[in-house]
Amino acid sequence: MKINTNSILFKAMSIILISFSIITLFLIVSAKYTFQEGYTSVIKEKISIIQTSISPSIALNISYGFEKAINEIAEETLNNPDVLFLNIESPQLKNKLTYSENNKTILDFQNSKEFISTSDLLDPITFKKMGNIILVYSNDAYENYMRSFYIWLSVGIFLLMLSTSILLLYFYNSLKPLSILEDSLKKFNPNKPKHLIINNNSKNEISSIMKSTNIMIDNIIKYISYSKQLNKDLSEQQKHLKDAQRIAHVGSFEYNLLTKELTLSDEMYRMLMIKKANTISWDDFLEFIEQKDKSYVRGVLDDAIENGSTFNLKYTLDLGDGKYIDIHTVGKVRKKSDGSSKITSVSRDITKDIKNKKIIEKLAYYDALTNLPNRSLLKNRLHKALQNASREKEKVALIFLDLDHFKLINDTLGHSVGDKLLIYVSKVLKQQLREADTLARLGGDEFVALLPDIKNTKNIQYITNKLLDSLKGKHDIDSHQLYITTSIGISIYPDDSKDMEELITNADTAMYDAKKDGRNNYKFYSKNMGNHISRQMMIEQDLRVAIENQNELEIYYQPKIDTKGDFISGAEALIRWNHPTKGLLFPDSFIEVAESTGIILDMGNWIISQTIFQIKEWNKLGLNKLKIAINLSPRQFQDKDLVFLISSLIQKYQINPTQLELEVTETMSMTNIESTLRILHELKELGVSIAIDDFGTGYSSLSYLKKFPVNILKIDKSFVMDVSQNNEDKIIVETIISMAHTLGFKTVAEGVETKEHVKLLKEMGCDQLQGYHYSRPIPKDAFTKFLENYNHN
Ligand code: C2E
Ligand code: CA
Ligand code: CA
Repeated sequence: MKINTNSILFKAMSIILISFSIITLFLIVSAKYTFQEGYTSVIKEKISIIQTSISPSIALNISYGFEKAINEIAEETLNNPDVLFLNIESPQLKNKLTYSENNKTILDFQNSKEFISTSDLLDPITFKKMGNIILVYSNDAYENYMRSFYIWLSVGIFLLMLSTSILLLYFYNSLKPLSILEDSLKKFNPNKPKHLIINNNSKNEISSIMKSTNIMIDNIIKYISYSKQLNKDLSEQQKHLKDAQRIAHVGSFEYNLLTKELTLSDEMYRMLMIKKANTISWDDFLEFIEQKDKSYVRGVLDDAIENGSTFNLKYTLDLGDGKYIDIHTVGKVRKKSDGSSKITSVSRDITKDIKNKKIIEKLAYYDALTNLPNRSLLKNRLHKALQNASREKEKVALIFLDLDHFKLINDTLGHSVGDKLLIYVSKVLKQQLREADTLARLGGDEFVALLPDIKNTKNIQYITNKLLDSLKGKHDIDSHQLYITTSIGISIYPDDSKDMEELITNADTAMYDAKKDGRNNYKFYSKNMGNHISRQMMIEQDLRVAIENQNELEIYYQPKIDTKGDFISGAEALIRWNHPTKGLLFPDSFIEVAESTGIILDMGNWIISQTIFQIKEWNKLGLNKLKIAINLSPRQFQDKDLVFLISSLIQKYQINPTQLELEVTETMSMTNIESTLRILHELKELGVSIAIDDFGTGYSSLSYLKKFPVNILKIDKSFVMDVSQNNEDKIIVETIISMAHTLGFKTVAEGVETKEHVKLLKEMGCDQLQGYHYSRPIPKDAFTKFLENYNHN
């Protein structure tokens, strides 16, 4: 135990020591003065008694001259053992009378500090001084007395010292546990809490303090274990939160406008690609915002700060080294009563979302092969151009281009050369146009140029000539030298029509007229152009006959291969027309007419019943695992009897509804959503599968797809064709497959022509493959044979 001047022990010790010293001093001084004086006066008293008792008789005897009597008195007096010397002097005596023990002189007695008293002898009659008596009284008794007094005093002081020491020792020992307490409290380690060791016998105040301390330590231990648990729970929760933020790419930050303190969550640090150890200021943070968004973000934040309101921001962060991320931040500014404000916000990394949205937008509005706007985007732009033209009293020109003999190039040199030519043409044509113009590809070899704000019709002629000239002559495509020409039809708003669809049809009609006139030229639409229509009418008449006869139409089947088991899982039913004079016709040349005239309804019903009948036939042969897909036209979806027809045929031919798949195009499923959805749900309830056909070429909105009771996505062949050469197409196909799987759809790739396609698509996880690599569409009997062969191999 450390004892300093402030310690109670030190103070107690000092007080005891000081009082002890004072008492001792007092005793010694009082012994010296009080006792000594008291005792001396007692002796003096005794001496004076002796003197008064002997003086008168000695004086009398002197006056009478009785020396003998004087001797007797002196001897008697000396009998008193304390009287050591007697000297009587008087002029009436011849000699002084001296009585002494051992013949000691007065000087000896003076030296040995005996009491020496001199008193006068008075004449008994006259009372005049007649001499003196010197008496020496022994100081033995006094010395004895004082000696024993000092002995007792010493004993007393010793006892006092002893008891003081015992007291001090007791104090010291009693207070010693305080030092243990002090030590233990100093060394108290919350990680390894220990109790104080208490002597069980002691029941004093200190031990009760120590017991209380132990109770306190118990409570601390409990609190620590509770805190530890709490801490554990908290850090687990924080970890969950961090994980959740990391997985969801959501970060958060908080900024105190008063203290300028900015705190970022781990994920926020990760998003900004900075180490957590780096503290960053609000200004540093704002510095990350890309230049173009800076003033907008600051403006919104300033507003929110001023009004204490919420905010919602989308902006780009520049992380340096050419790395950018898109962020969506929602937050709130809280104003406190003390005038301080705090910004709390959550930010999400939406870079991928935006990228996906761009891909989907691209799928929806751009032609995958040439990257030109597709029909949907053309219509959007045409719509806007017409509105604008009507306001500004201007004209709009629609130039419809169709390459001459493109089919020949495709058939003789192959699709890949055909595709390259289309890309080449799209570039050349685009160079002839202004920024404000739109060049779109409608499909195949059909292009449309939209020229808004036309002030003079002469300009149209000039541009059209430019377009024609740009394609004239020889072009090097894929080591082939190709001569290409094009036929162009032009319609003008508002001269030819004010209706958007009609303008497109008019330009198409004018283009046919140009083709009929020997190709490689252009024609402005005029009302008396009837050829295109009559061509349609011819097809229409022939088709009606074909439907009546029922022997001109035939269904071909193209096998679909399952990538997992490498077996034929089914087929797609595709219509063919054995035209009595024109030979075998493909759907491209008559489906459009069938649809626009409504013939498609009868034709469609015939295809459905033929196919279901055929499924029954295959079932009879034991091929009852086949799933056959039928293409449905948009018009068929407006037929209220469609569901009834299909369910009755399933009943009639006793097939399993899961053997039937219906292919619908996206464009079709987008129109009249309500009734489409109802019909699709009814079909799905029958047990029939629904596939989205030509996925990627129409309006591929994920949110729509989620609503549709779809099972399968068929990836359009335009993407599949180039999947091994064009990286963008590869990414698109990959995106579609993973997107489809996320939504729980199966995927079918069509247009699979090469081994390379098969390999890549299998790697991408595509579920089924269909294409010329396996088989072209073939008649039913050929398909049966194909099945047998394939299964045997
Ligand atoms: P689709 O539904 O996309 O059919 C696939 C088309 O791709 C078929 O053309 C098929 O022969 C072709 N094809 C299959 N594999 C390959 C390949 O590896 N490479 C290439 N380049 N093409 C391949 P098809 O039979 O000429 O049919 C064209 C379109 O006509 C069909 O496109 C479909 O939209 C429509 N169609 C065909 N049959 C019917 C039908 O029965 N009803 C309806 N409503 N439309 C039909
Ligand atoms: Ca199809
Ligand atoms: Ca298709």
